[in-house]
Amino acid sequence: MSLKERYERVLADVAKAPSAFGPATLIVVTKNHPAELVAELVDLGCMNVGENRDQEASAKYLATQELRPHNSLNWHFIGQLQTNKVKSVLRYASAIHSIDRSSLVQELAKQLPKLGRTVQGFIELNLTGDPGRGGVMPANLEALTEEVLKVPEIQLQGLMAVAGLGEEPRSEFERVLELQHRFLTIAPEARSLSMGMSEDYQVALELGATHIRVGSKITGPRSY
Ligand SMILES: *Cc1c(COP(=O)(O)O)cnc(C)c1O
Repeated sequence: MSLKERYERVLADVAKAPSAFGPATLIVVTKNHPAELVAELVDLGCMNVGENRDQEASAKYLATQELRPHNSLNWHFIGQLQTNKVKSVLRYASAIHSIDRSSLVQELAKQLPKLGRTVQGFIELNLTGDPGRGGVMPANLEALTEEVLKVPEIQLQGLMAVAGLGEEPRSEFERVLELQHRFLTIAPEARSLSMGMSEDYQVALELGATHIRVGSKITGPRSY
């Protein structure tokens, strides 16, 4: 199957899914694939790509600008974000899906006004119970949300989550919906849900995902 066929197969699944908020946004995760693949995606009409490491993403962004100078791609940053990478990430990313702690919010609050710009933000939930992993622990969700809402340059979109390895995706996403309930009492406008990857995006769409982040099912296997 070609890249085009794989991309269109997932797009068709998105189009079929019932959604109260219109069709979900498909973010094609291009990590560990070259800029040439991003250029091919641009040719297929893809508008959204996702990357999880700044070093790789910045280089790929610049290479893509050379390959397809007038593209209107949105770059979504979906990986753990160190504060010392924020400035660099803001050079290309229109959305950050991994806001998970106060120090990151404060760095965004410092850098965005200097750049005179805004960014779309998602608060990432940690569903694993292991504080060492990415994402905010559910107990700290409210406090972090309050803090994000104080930064006018962060346009809070909603929540992001990754279903735990070996966990049943449906019950993981149902937990997200429960937490979203609490979250929406503080941030009623931020109704987006970034959840679902190659193996579980169908379930995520069924449960109301507005953004799915699909890599290998479209790009093919990643070479590390
Ligand atoms: C890699 C990655 C994806 C895509 O994973 P696939 O299983 O290849 O679809 C989605 N979200 C995040 C946060 C990722 O790091």
